[in-house]
Amino acid sequence: MNLIFFTKKLNPRIEYIVKHLFIEVLDYSIEFTIDYNHFVASDKIRIQYGSFQGVKPPSFLIPRHDFMSETDIRSQDITFATDHQFPSFFTINNPEADLPFDFLSMAFYLLTRYEEYLPFEADKHGRFTANQSQAFKYNFLQQPLVDQWLIFINDQLKERFQFTPVKSKTYSYIPTIDIDFGWAYLHKDSWRSFGAAMRDLLKGQFGNFSSRFAVLRGRQADPYFKFDFLNELHQANGLKAVYFFLFGAHGTYDKNTAPEHPAMHQLVRKIAKENRIGFHPSYASNSDVNQLGKETNDLTSISGQTINISRQHFLKLSFPETYRGLLSVGIRSDYTMGYAEELGFRASTCHPFLWYDLENEEETKLTVYPFQVMDVTLKNYLGLSPEEASESCEKIIEEVRAVNGTLISIWHNSSFSSLMGWDGWQLMYESFVVSASEKSGKENKAL
Ligand SMILES: [Zn+2]
Repeated sequence: MNLIFFTKKLNPRIEYIVKHLFIEVLDYSIEFTIDYNHFVASDKIRIQYGSFQGVKPPSFLIPRHDFMSETDIRSQDITFATDHQFPSFFTINNPEADLPFDFLSMAFYLLTRYEEYLPFEADKHGRFTANQSQAFKYNFLQQPLVDQWLIFINDQLKERFQFTPVKSKTYSYIPTIDIDFGWAYLHKDSWRSFGAAMRDLLKGQFGNFSSRFAVLRGRQADPYFKFDFLNELHQANGLKAVYFFLFGAHGTYDKNTAPEHPAMHQLVRKIAKENRIGFHPSYASNSDVNQLGKETNDLTSISGQTINISRQHFLKLSFPETYRGLLSVGIRSDYTMGYAEELGFRASTCHPFLWYDLENEEETKLTVYPFQVMDVTLKNYLGLSPEEASESCEKIIEEVRAVNGTLISIWHNSSFSSLMGWDGWQLMYESFVVSASEKSGKENKAL
């Protein structure tokens, strides 16, 4: 469908958000114009951004807030209105407008993570925390607010201009696995292995001690080596997973088997045969771009795949440094957008979007794939049982399905063993995957 978009003055912010919402998500083709007469004469679907000039043509009017004309980053006066379909801010009282607020400003603010550029209190890993976000404070973190408003607006357009869209996005699900530890016991330096065994003894963890020796003697499988199970589960549900490999040198927060270890090479190649490989930059690489480059190159040469997708270890994400660093080493997709401590929609969307560098006021080539659910959020941060976790996840799946979004989950291969109290979570993950898979959605619709 063809759409014409009129505003008196275009700028990078407006072009970016309109292209994302109306081209990328809704599949329209768009003509931007600043020529009012041309706009009025057009027979396309008309969206007008800002005030009228003369008689109102049959157009959909979105009121314009000054925020979209700014070129700096400053604290904004965010006042929420909650008496509409969904929460909104950047309220504008214009009786002739078709919305009571500037939707484009709100979507831009939420997608670009504007609030994360402002001063905030970082946690011990330097992260912006969920409870400092507008979404958390105003209770919409568990809903894809931008996508919900967009569907509402699209329905209004369909009614106003009497058309049926030819194509529309469909729901999809991408399971992703972070490999922070390929193995619990195998393929460690012998002195580290010895030290860990001694710690088990000193702490009285005799179960761990004996299971370590059973694994090392080849009598038991390594409890973190869950890759065949994961592969079978995903394939049985028609899913393609992405595996993110931590591939850095040993450090306080980087404890995977060494990237040069032959077993690690074998594991990367084994997984790369049937799955997409992504990069999981080491904690240490956050402050060292040369290290970041080295790790990507190492993983590229071993996997045989071009590594251009990534997720930050510990979800360490600082704007704009992290994304600029990733772009500089050739990364084109990032899967970090979500919170460690809460489920939900950090950027208020479940559609992938291009990252807009606010400091430079420009759209970049990095696509952000937001995730909504992570294993350690459920068990460690929220303290849920597997049953409670399933319930929370169902709600999130439904929210994503309702806006034809992309559901993305993060699990760790180490989150299935009783070693760290994950008993019962393998079953939880199995039922989550079945419920989240597209196949399951189709069956539900048929019922
Ligand atoms: Zn990690």
